[in-house]
Amino acid sequence: MPKLILVFLGPPGVGKGTQAAKLAAEFKLPHISTGDIFRDHLKRETELGRKAKEFMNAGKLVPDELTVSLVIDRISRTDCEKGYILDGFPRNVKQGEALDKALAQRGEQVTAALNFDAPRQTVIDRIAGRALKEGRVDDTPETVKKRLEVYDAETGPLTPFYREKGVLHEFDATGTIDQIYGQLKDRVLSL
Ligand code: AMP
Repeated sequence: MPKLILVFLGPPGVGKGTQAAKLAAEFKLPHISTGDIFRDHLKRETELGRKAKEFMNAGKLVPDELTVSLVIDRISRTDCEKGYILDGFPRNVKQGEALDKALAQRGEQVTAALNFDAPRQTVIDRIAGRALKEGRVDDTPETVKKRLEVYDAETGPLTPFYREKGVLHEFDATGTIDQIYGQLKDRVLSL
């Protein structure tokens, strides 16, 4: 199997974080979720957390200047030598290009972009369920609407971006966690 540099794509609430965590555990790869990293900074009230907070609470993207270097630093750590999973990054084409550039400097490229999709009402219902369980501050109806708009305008264009590179794999995320995971795992094993 090649060094796996995997990018997880899909709207908020589609379940990509759950799938990324399962795959990371089974394949022993670091699971790098920019949303989790930012939430951790928020909780610890770091300088980065303070800066990211207003954007996250409004459902907007944290500026690329704060996000890209964070990820590039993270993937440079030794635990990423055998591969890693990026969950929630890149979130726009600029971030995708920045990642490509950083990887090209090491003679690497994204192995696969795994795109999860489900009908809009399904993702809205899943976010509502998560809001009850986890109480994420950005899972309020107003913020969710904004996050979906941001997804359509900024993250959606990453699908053709990776399709053109021939690394896009698409998954129907309407099934159960285990059904979707089965398909994901088969696909990753065939890379
Ligand atoms: P997530 O947990 O991936 O849904 O991310 C929660 C929030 O963190 C997003 O709504 C953004 O405000 C911020 N965020 C996470 N990843 C990124 C990223 N790659 N670029 C910019 N903002 C991000």
